[in-house]
Amino acid sequence: MIYTDTRDKNVKVDFKTAVMNGMNVATGGLYIPVEFPKLSSSFLNKKPEPSFRDVAFNMARPYVEGEIPDADLEALIVDAYPFTSQVVPIDAITYVLELFHGPTCAFKDFGARFMARVMSYFNRNENDNLHILVATSGDTGSAVGSAFHNVPGIDVTILYPDGKISPLQEKQLSTFTGNVRALKVKGTFDDCQKLVKTAFVDNDLRAKFRLSSANSINISRLLPQSFYYMYSSLVVKNRIPLDSKIENPAIIAIVPSGNFGNLTSGLIAKEMGAPIEGFVAATNSNHTVPDWIATGEYTSRPSVPTLSNAMDVGAPSNYERIISMYSLEQVRQMFASYWTDDEGTLKAMKDCNSNTGYIIDPHGAIAWKAWNDIRSGAMEKLVNGTLNADYSKPGLTPNIPSWADAVTSKRAVGIVLETAAPAKFGSTVVKAIGREASMPSRLEKVLNLPDNAIPMEKDYDSFKQWLVSNL
Ligand SMILES: *Cc1c(COP(=O)(O)O)cnc(C)c1O
Repeated sequence: MIYTDTRDKNVKVDFKTAVMNGMNVATGGLYIPVEFPKLSSSFLNKKPEPSFRDVAFNMARPYVEGEIPDADLEALIVDAYPFTSQVVPIDAITYVLELFHGPTCAFKDFGARFMARVMSYFNRNENDNLHILVATSGDTGSAVGSAFHNVPGIDVTILYPDGKISPLQEKQLSTFTGNVRALKVKGTFDDCQKLVKTAFVDNDLRAKFRLSSANSINISRLLPQSFYYMYSSLVVKNRIPLDSKIENPAIIAIVPSGNFGNLTSGLIAKEMGAPIEGFVAATNSNHTVPDWIATGEYTSRPSVPTLSNAMDVGAPSNYERIISMYSLEQVRQMFASYWTDDEGTLKAMKDCNSNTGYIIDPHGAIAWKAWNDIRSGAMEKLVNGTLNADYSKPGLTPNIPSWADAVTSKRAVGIVLETAAPAKFGSTVVKAIGREASMPSRLEKVLNLPDNAIPMEKDYDSFKQWLVSNL
């Protein structure tokens, strides 16, 4: 596969270059494959549907062709995914796609584990270690640390702002051993990010060490997230005749979004033939993308803190990939977009639980609420012109997607993406529903491990000195 760049279509690189560089430093653009090959109809129509790993292998194959042989790719996928995504029906036309069955209980495990193994594969003939530096405000650091833990030839240094992340998140970051360690920086997330960025452009350091990043713009984190869209839409397609008996159903994926990597992966799956009719881009009060869809003007802004903190992004980096793939008009046809604030999030957690019995986390709750509003009248009102779709207030934005009639004629079926285990946000769950979510044993275990985080000042010289003596 050839990869090009969102800012310069003349750029042509292979998969290895795209993965190891992360982004194109020369243009500031993001790598993107020149095409998204469609899976064969015999594969898409298999009954029963193919397994998650089978889907993963067949989807990944064209993107690594000529660079990772089939047998190695298969082994890599088996190693990356000892867990899978799970499709849980919560009412006749709503399926929750649980993406938290990986080691750190958030969907980022799907991308990070694939990326770690791909990087290790490409690094296999190097003599020197590859050093990954990653700044985190929460979930990314633990997913990346866990994904690279014990991966040969690579070590990871995580930087997080001391005292500014949740106690459980801190436990997840600070208890790694071996080739992964965490620095608790006396500063903010932005200070952490700055230290990492400064290190990357420090020629003195670069001469000594092979440094790389592992952030969410890497194409090798985006591609594997498309696997679960394909897998779940095939599962749901086969279940609909049993669950709701809807003929000619339209499957809609509802995605709680921050940086829009997850949603971009859904677009890739659709391009490759996933039976997904449309998407709902659901955000919290950081509604840069819904505003763009509503007005056609894209204005990034500083992020505001919310209960769904992993979605607190004011300048979503994958916006750039979305507009390189589609026009605004195409986006308005494919997406409904929706946002809600913290009050709406808490209400959604409560309503989801009382209507269906399902305990949902603050991120998934926003997607559930978007779907619940759409199916129970908001889309119909939008089509009739009776919805006051004021995009500056919580709710749907005014564009009418191409699949609106599927909702109004009761043919639409929703897949709500649940991106984290509710127990990761224990106090918010208690506040919303008055009881606790059950704690997965792998999170429980972390709580009892010793804290190995290394204190770090926020000035670059201290950080550099530490790197020089410890890498
Ligand atoms: C990262 C994250 C998101 C947002 O995903 P994007 O790809 O950045 O849009 C949503 N929920 C959880 C729990 C996350 O960790």
